[in-house]
Amino acid sequence: MQSKFGLETSTRVCGVCRESQPVYRQVYSGVSFCASCFKKSVEKRVRKTISRYSLLREDDRILVAVSGGKDSLSLLKILAKIEREYPRASLVAVSIDEGIPGYRDEALRLAADMCRRLGVEHRVYAFEDLFGISLSEAMSRGVLGRLGLGACSLCGVWRRKAISLAARELKATVVATAHTLDDIVQTYLMDILRGEFPKAPIGLRREGNGIIPRIAPLRLIPEEEVVLYAYLSRIPFQEIPCPNAQNSQRDLVRTFLAQFESRYPGSLFAALKTIESGIMPREGGLTPCQVCGEPASKAICRACELESQVSSLLAEKGRLLGANIGVDDVQSID
Ligand SMILES: [Zn+2]
Ligand SMILES: [Zn+2]
Repeated sequence: MQSKFGLETSTRVCGVCRESQPVYRQVYSGVSFCASCFKKSVEKRVRKTISRYSLLREDDRILVAVSGGKDSLSLLKILAKIEREYPRASLVAVSIDEGIPGYRDEALRLAADMCRRLGVEHRVYAFEDLFGISLSEAMSRGVLGRLGLGACSLCGVWRRKAISLAARELKATVVATAHTLDDIVQTYLMDILRGEFPKAPIGLRREGNGIIPRIAPLRLIPEEEVVLYAYLSRIPFQEIPCPNAQNSQRDLVRTFLAQFESRYPGSLFAALKTIESGIMPREGGLTPCQVCGEPASKAICRACELESQVSSLLAEKGRLLGANIGVDDVQSID
């Protein structure tokens, strides 16, 4: 009998140690794992991913983006273990406070607790300090509606920028994000559904153009295995999803892919492999943003573009308080 995590209640033994009782059957490989062998297997696969794609160097200063969710706390725990074996490497955890009251506060506390326990430096950067406005304020003051943007769009662009700013300030040489196999396939599929083939493989170390490279050491671990790893490792994590994330495009794609994978195990690995074999990384064309200096595909990067749109809307709103700005006006802002 299996629960939603594939947790087993049968009396057969673990397929690895042949001793303990299995708690998880990996459907796509047919192997059953006891709790201890499962955790080791995840850690081993992360190490393999790092060496297979040359994601880390011995003297890296690694910034780990930690939201306080299960994926990022699991990644932090695993990287803290690996980093201890490399005396010249160092680790710093960064959390972004977008300003989502009642949601982010708990996550930040969980992230801070975990960092303290692991002995990892933890820094928090807030939207309000970096961009002059929090996400909830941008929502409540009607800015998002006028820009025709969902909360996740602004949040995603600014989080990315915030992490880049933090990486420069903290002199990180690489940024590790907790994207899982599921996240990456979702992003590729969303690109394809929008009519674009993915521009570059996600989470593989790409240097050059003044970029601090981003890596995704969990890129070959399915989401449900990360959840199980966090659960078996007794990592306290935030279970409630972001209140803004429902009904987003990603939500639809996530639901579809999860259903498909559960009926046809191994589909996510197949999709990743097939899509990445067809990606021709287009590295050229990036130049420093005229405002912030981060690499951009246009003269001004999307994050700075949004920042100036938001501040001019707020200024305008001050002048035209109560005036009705029509849809056409909004589009002309873009
Ligand atoms: Zn075992
Ligand atoms: Zn910029």
